[in-house]
Amino acid sequence: MLTELLQSANLFHLLHRIDIDLAKEQQLAGCPFCGGPLHYSNYERKPRGGPETLPEEICIRLSLCCGKENCRRRTLPPSTLFMDRHVYFRGVILIILTLQQKFPRKNSKARLMRMFDVSRKTINRWQGFFRDVFPVSAVWHRLRGMISTDVSNDNLPGELIIYFAKHIKTAEKALVSCLEFLARGEAQKMMAR
Ligand SMILES: [Zn+2]
Repeated sequence: MLTELLQSANLFHLLHRIDIDLAKEQQLAGCPFCGGPLHYSNYERKPRGGPETLPEEICIRLSLCCGKENCRRRTLPPSTLFMDRHVYFRGVILIILTLQQKFPRKNSKARLMRMFDVSRKTINRWQGFFRDVFPVSAVWHRLRGMISTDVSNDNLPGELIIYFAKHIKTAEKALVSCLEFLARGEAQKMMAR
């Protein structure tokens, strides 16, 4: 069921609309460095793991740039579609890891590599991030307080996906809510020009 979700163009349209809202909120807040006005300066990306027929406008990482002469710095608004500079969609990363953690008998690493056309090295890197970096991050610390203590720090992000799936009726809504929860919890990512 989780893997089928990733073939739904509707899911990616929904996430794109949330990303637009997140970027608008960031734009309204102004430049985090100087308070100046923010303008769009998006990146075209070729994210992997989603349906092949996604329109180009969805494969864009929304990004903002300060309009003040002496600043001109970039601000990346939070995103449900993208995770840092990873090539795969954030939802794809979360689902691959969840399948491995929660349903390992059916989802060997070799099977997931074939299904999603992803290398072992890449999956290992994501696993390392969610095992060693994310559980002790400020982002998770902040989010941790907003959800049940039943969600363990081990086996993230699978624990989180299953938590949302238990509390929200459809798998699609659960995944969307989980992605929005993570995106909103993230500290503003800033990049020097
Ligand atoms: Zn600025």
